[in-house]
Amino acid sequence: MFRINSFGRWLRQKFGSPVFKISIDGGFTCPNRDGTVAWGGCTYCNNDSFRPESAGHVETIEVQIAAGIAYLSERFRAERFLVYWQSFTNTYAPVDELQKLYLQALDADPRIVGMTVGTRPDCVEEEKLEMLEDLARDHYVCMEYGLESIFDDTLSKVNRGHDSACYRDAVSRTRRRGLDICSHVILGLPGETREQLMAYAPVLNGLGVQFVKLHHLHLVKSSRMAKEFEAHPFPLFEFEDWVTFICSFLEHLDPAIVVQRLFGWTPEEHLVGPHWRKNKPEIYRAILHELERRDSWQGKAFGCPPPGF
Ligand code: SF4
Repeated sequence: MFRINSFGRWLRQKFGSPVFKISIDGGFTCPNRDGTVAWGGCTYCNNDSFRPESAGHVETIEVQIAAGIAYLSERFRAERFLVYWQSFTNTYAPVDELQKLYLQALDADPRIVGMTVGTRPDCVEEEKLEMLEDLARDHYVCMEYGLESIFDDTLSKVNRGHDSACYRDAVSRTRRRGLDICSHVILGLPGETREQLMAYAPVLNGLGVQFVKLHHLHLVKSSRMAKEFEAHPFPLFEFEDWVTFICSFLEHLDPAIVVQRLFGWTPEEHLVGPHWRKNKPEIYRAILHELERRDSWQGKAFGCPPPGF
């Protein structure tokens, strides 16, 4: 029985074999830190880790992809790959530059089946979506938009630089282009109650997105939020608490939505908290065990049968 509509299974069904993501850095920055949208970035973002534009050295796209393929092939015998534009805001450049960069990546190796573009909802103008729609005729393309919170007062407090209406607009314009969408949320931002966190599920269900990434809030060193936490601590999800919460959340999540992530992840050396001291498989197994213990699954609250996917 499948209890979660998982991304790994979706990839195998879509592409006929396992597909591995290669994270690459396109040398982008972020409009939420350079004053275009706001200064200083989101308060949970580690601003010290930003690459200084003048000093940063980013390997060419081809070199990054070759290194990613070599590593994943050796470690997992991977044969097919998705390029993942992960760092910063990956649509923050003129459209012709973006197109050139994306094509460079998509054409770098015949084993690449497509790409996921991580970006902000306020950085996807129509001309960029039109270009991406064109690329999607020959390659798989998914847009990954950070929603982070469904509440405008939280978005404002964390200096996100956009509101939920902006998010809905980006999602609806992207859907009209036929592109897949992944919504990224952070559950546990300061001031949001458990009741409010459960309200994310119906909002995500109503967006019409194909994928979600569900992160618990983790505080990273040198972020503004970590400093706020040191001055005025607020509750963070402890491990058992998250397992219980996320299982209840999954029960209320539309089973048609594919779950790409069930928790956040920061290497211990960058982490202020919470310290779970578990590796990723341990966390994943604990969530599955809790679903088994409850005899539950994604979407059970709607009376849906266990997912067949
Ligand atoms: S979290 Fe993303 S949008 Fe916010 S400042 Fe960092 S890179 Fe920019």
